[in-house]
Amino acid sequence: MIPAAFEYYAPRSLNDALSYLASHRDDVKILSGGQSLMPLLKMRLSKPAYIVDIGRIPGLDGIIEEGDHLIIGSLVTHAQIEDSGLLKQECPLLPKTATTIADVQVRNRGTLGGSLAHADPAGDWPAAILALEAEIKITGPNGERWVKADEFFLGLLMSVLEPDEIVTAIKVPITGSDKTAYLKAAPRSSGFAVVGVAVRLALDGAGNCARSAVAITGVADKAYRAARVEQMLAGKKLDERTIEDAAAEAVRNIEVIEDINGSSEYRAQLTRIYVARAIDAALAGR
Ligand SMILES: Cc1cc2nc3c(=O)[nH]c(=O)nc-3n(C[C@H](O)[C@H](O)[C@H](O)COP(=O)(O)OP(=O)(O)OC[C@H]3O[C@@H](n4cnc5c(N)ncnc54)[C@H](O)[C@@H]3O)c2cc1C
Repeated sequence: MIPAAFEYYAPRSLNDALSYLASHRDDVKILSGGQSLMPLLKMRLSKPAYIVDIGRIPGLDGIIEEGDHLIIGSLVTHAQIEDSGLLKQECPLLPKTATTIADVQVRNRGTLGGSLAHADPAGDWPAAILALEAEIKITGPNGERWVKADEFFLGLLMSVLEPDEIVTAIKVPITGSDKTAYLKAAPRSSGFAVVGVAVRLALDGAGNCARSAVAITGVADKAYRAARVEQMLAGKKLDERTIEDAAAEAVRNIEVIEDINGSSEYRAQLTRIYVARAIDAALAGR
């Protein structure tokens, strides 16, 4: 289908983009990679009168090291993350996650900022950035604010973003000797996660779990940290029994969705299995 008519604007500066958003606040959409927005426009599920294409704004497409963190511009694509030597070295969870997203075409155009802004409950990035305790930089008419990943997502396709605000960067830690993994179960047809699990583990000198972050996508109306799993891993030797007992708590207090990919019981069981497998994969350095 052909999208409904809209006015298209491609500013060359962030200030111009912000002014345009402020002027058309009630009926405007930001375009980044277009991999989620274009299908919505074509199916006329979204019919904004104005579109602001931020793809030509300089300074939003870099990956830089800043102390013990990395700052990733919002326009950095899934493919750039997949191929980044710096990220493979300093924050390998991100390239590992990128390889699981869709196909080459989508990865070449889709952006990290666009994906987070879209807040798809089956998107892969929300799990990874929750496990990394990343922060999201939002620029709007009143300046900049940083929002913690676990405060960013509000629910199905909903985040704390206001219509006149732009995600401009994502701050992730250098993960050093921490062990990380991302695993997902996804139907071949769409590639979207039925369940996706991101894990970050720090072991102490005795090999016990000093710190963990386990984040899950595809299972509820938004990605979440599995707090009970993390509690059950804390301070323990991560043997098979400990991992299985912890993974059994993966959907504790979560309203598990059901859809054409499976019932909530099926998804809950798959989640427990994938949490255990993702912890194993992190420990094995996969
Ligand atoms: C066939 C197919 C398969 C896919 N499979 C997967 C998959 O397996 N895993 C996965 O995670 N994703 C998947 N996706 C989604 C893909 O990752 C998209 O790239 C991503 O969801 C959106 O990023 P984008 O840059 O294309 O954003 P766009 O489509 O341009 O925008 C998406 C939404 O975010 C808003 N927006 C965009 N950028 C910003 C910004 N900087 N600040 C504020 N708001 C902004 C837009 O207004 C729009 O509402 C798939 C998409 C397709 C088409």
